[in-house]
Amino acid sequence: MSLIVHKYGGTSMGSIERIQNVARRVAKWHAAGHQVVVVPSAMSGETNRLLGLAKELSIQPDPRELDMLAATGEQASSALLAMALAAQGVPARSYAGWQVPVQTDNAYTRARIRSIDDTRIRQDLDAGRVVVVTGFQGVDEEGNITTLGRGGSDTSAVAVAAAMKASECLIYTDVDGVYTTDPRVVPEARRMKVLSFEEMLEMASLGSKVLQIRSVEFAGKYRVPVRVLSSMTDPMIPLEEEMSSGTLITFEEDQKMEAAVVSGIAFSRDEAKFTLRAVPDTPGVAYSILGPIAAANIEVDMILQNLSVQGTTDFSFTVSRNDALRTKELLMNQVGPAVGAGEIVFDEAVCKVSIVGIGMRNHAGIASSMFRALSEEGINIQMISTSEIKTSVIIADKYMELAVRALHKTFELDQEK
Ligand code: ASP
Ligand code: MG
Repeated sequence: MSLIVHKYGGTSMGSIERIQNVARRVAKWHAAGHQVVVVPSAMSGETNRLLGLAKELSIQPDPRELDMLAATGEQASSALLAMALAAQGVPARSYAGWQVPVQTDNAYTRARIRSIDDTRIRQDLDAGRVVVVTGFQGVDEEGNITTLGRGGSDTSAVAVAAAMKASECLIYTDVDGVYTTDPRVVPEARRMKVLSFEEMLEMASLGSKVLQIRSVEFAGKYRVPVRVLSSMTDPMIPLEEEMSSGTLITFEEDQKMEAAVVSGIAFSRDEAKFTLRAVPDTPGVAYSILGPIAAANIEVDMILQNLSVQGTTDFSFTVSRNDALRTKELLMNQVGPAVGAGEIVFDEAVCKVSIVGIGMRNHAGIASSMFRALSEEGINIQMISTSEIKTSVIIADKYMELAVRALHKTFELDQEK
């Protein structure tokens, strides 16, 4: 017998029939003797609907009231699931975040979990019940309801699993795992059977949107194995089959020594590149340029500085396209004149493509294989950045799909390993 946390996304909870299917699946685990805590999202579309209602009343609703409102979505789906379980003869009880309690800070709409008291949950589990805990929400020190940010139920589930030292956190969703890259770009993309937390963080932050990034950070920090798997399969498939499906995100040590050198190709379209030309090459220039950007809370991703003619330097950096306008204004009105830049160039038609893999740590020459593959396609690399487990390039966004396909092929990610 083990303690398992299940998390079901909005699509999986999207109708009464689907909730009944979730209940069947949970009942199967319960019947096999496992203790199960289930963390559901709101029914699909519900959170958007609620936030839409708020927008009709005010352009800037009070964040406290927004959380009070949005949290109802998960309360409804949790109660419905407990009823569906009971209807199938499985004793179950649902709890809102504040009842557990899931204690958070007081940052409404993006609260962080501080602690979870599992006393009540344990009592129910020991009494043979399935426990349903609302995703996405918690309570601050003063008793106000808070929410964890969009997609936050993933983090709720991982946090419950961490607090209770569950043996695995199963994230049931409408895809059957994490792929080597987006299958819409490369139809030959394969489901990864296993990858490390670090790789998943790189894949997630670089564009594969299967899990809320914060949940992966949490899982890595508290060492909770997470499995992403489909909720669309027959709920009665044998447990062993279910446990070997999907993608397991786990500790690096658990992976085979011969793990692939490159595990996946990530990409992101929403990049913007800025270049300040002919800036005087003196100490403090990088700080004079990036200081005001940081002060405006704009996150800079890649940075490149190059000597150009006669004591001047060209300075380029990228930011998320959402921040492009603000960055542009800062550079034109403040930074450019202050540092005496010759010219300021913007390019919003760029994207970032990255190869990711823990195997890169022990292998030289991986980056050069990447550069060769891109050059063979005639793709110009504008910027490069590397870390131990990742190499990223900035290229023109019209080449993005071509680059991703070429790299997927070069690193043989379409082949079963
Ligand atoms: N219901 C929330 C949202 O739509 C949380 C979640 O589904 O994870 O963002
Ligand atoms: Mg989600």
